Amino acid sequence: MMHRRLFVARLGLGLGSLIAGGTVHAAQTVKVVTSFSLLGDMVRRIGGGMVSVQSLVPDDGDAHTYQPRPSDMRGVTGAAVLVENGLGFEGWMDRLTGATRFAGARVVATKGIKPRTMRQGGGIVSVDPHAWQDPRNGVVYARNIQAGLIAAAPDHMHALTDAADRYALAIAQADSWIEQQFAGIPPERRRVITTHDAFGYYGDRYGIEFLAAQGINTDAEPSARAVAGLIAQIRKENIGAVFIENMTDGRMAKMLARETGAVVGGTVYSDALSPPNGPAASYLAMLRHNTTLFARAMRGGKLG
Ligand SMILES: [Zn+2]
Repeated sequence: MMHRRLFVARLGLGLGSLIAGGTVHAAQTVKVVTSFSLLGDMVRRIGGGMVSVQSLVPDDGDAHTYQPRPSDMRGVTGAAVLVENGLGFEGWMDRLTGATRFAGARVVATKGIKPRTMRQGGGIVSVDPHAWQDPRNGVVYARNIQAGLIAAAPDHMHALTDAADRYALAIAQADSWIEQQFAGIPPERRRVITTHDAFGYYGDRYGIEFLAAQGINTDAEPSARAVAGLIAQIRKENIGAVFIENMTDGRMAKMLARETGAVVGGTVYSDALSPPNGPAASYLAMLRHNTTLFARAMRGGKLG
């Protein structure tokens, strides 16, 4: 009898340790907050089950004009790692981290990338933050995220390195695939109209000229003069398609199409991913989707 009681007591202790062990394991998951969905996808690809990820700007959201919510404050406060794009993309981030006294590690995904600059209205030179649209930069993002996650969870160094290596390879393969899609398209057809200047890095990489009514930010309405100039250019250069961006108002693209006789080439994903059931739920899916639509429009094929 005495023995049995002792046995039960021991079993109880054993179960207790097992549960405690599970809790410790769960606590080892690295809590990561990212500024926007694309970075969230990259962190998941590299961190896998080792991370839990919250993205502040939602799918289809506009990071340029984003207003942090109270739930974002709570998310940032509890995070071990914060991943942001940098290059002035998240103008609200310093206020958010200041207000929450964020003391974790901050990863700037564009660290080491030579930024593209653009001459905006009034001759002001601005830094273009949309560096992820060049997949070679996407590899740099992946490596910066890898380094940030390893610093937060050094025990997982090997798994994180393996995952980042595989991911970097997949991005490089996407880059080659994109090049193939535009092969043979003559320079005069390599012109695309979008809502705001989000595809400059993509255009530089693949030899495509992107024109937009709005500059690299979406916080100001395009001027009547800028819109009139763009309409004249679309007509003069006989540009066949304008594209809606998922995170902006589609009315601009539709108006440009109406005024010029161009067709609306579909919705491309510039500054945010689609929801999970959409066509651009990951960075790699976004690259494939946008490229398919751009190439189709340039070849003058059926648009969708
Ligand atoms: Zn943008």
